[in-house]
Amino acid sequence: MTARPPGLRLVLATANPDKAAEIISILGAEGVALSPRPAAVPDVEETGDTLVDNARLKARAISAAVGEPAVSDDTGLEVDALGGAPGIYTARYAGEDATYADNVAKLLTELEGTPAPDRGARFVAVAFVSFPDGTEIWAEGVVEGTIASESRGTDGFGYDPVFVPNEGDGRTFAEMGSAEKHVFSHRGRAFRGLATMIGDRAD
Ligand code: IMP
Repeated sequence: MTARPPGLRLVLATANPDKAAEIISILGAEGVALSPRPAAVPDVEETGDTLVDNARLKARAISAAVGEPAVSDDTGLEVDALGGAPGIYTARYAGEDATYADNVAKLLTELEGTPAPDRGARFVAVAFVSFPDGTEIWAEGVVEGTIASESRGTDGFGYDPVFVPNEGDGRTFAEMGSAEKHVFSHRGRAFRGLATMIGDRAD
């Protein structure tokens, strides 16, 4: 484990409870303490053109509102056969109010008839910290995989039932426990990278 600045506590900027639970688990194991996202701060519109831009918007807004360092996550799923879509539109792939099930259904429909070797995809996550003095640090995590032909498994969230990581044994992320997922997940990699950078700053 890397040394942390004594007493460093980050405020969670994500409003997504599934992502928040994963970040708490990953950063907790790295010795970083987290405070919940303040309920009074309104949702931040993700108007950026990149994952880094959107992660920055979320972390800055929360840090500015509470006067403490805030940590955010922005994630995109890039599907080769769809020219890298949904990318920054991953959360709203099937529409503004789309559920996880709506998004998965749309993805499976778009890939209907696409053979297994052409179903390559990756999750990219950006983990971002904004400090009240304007300092910013971020780290990216990537996991390569394929999109299954149907949903499998009940763990996880989002596109987990159709994402099969290349480094695994053929199971989808939704067929793994969360600890197993984060050994090679995009989020595990991004936040462990971020924790190392935070530690290095304190050295
Ligand atoms: P955002 O990062 O809040 O823009 O959300 C991106 C969307 O990607 C989420 O709404 C989920 O549908 C999906 N997503 C993010 N992380 C994961 C993951 O670890 N597994 C599966 N789907 C994910």
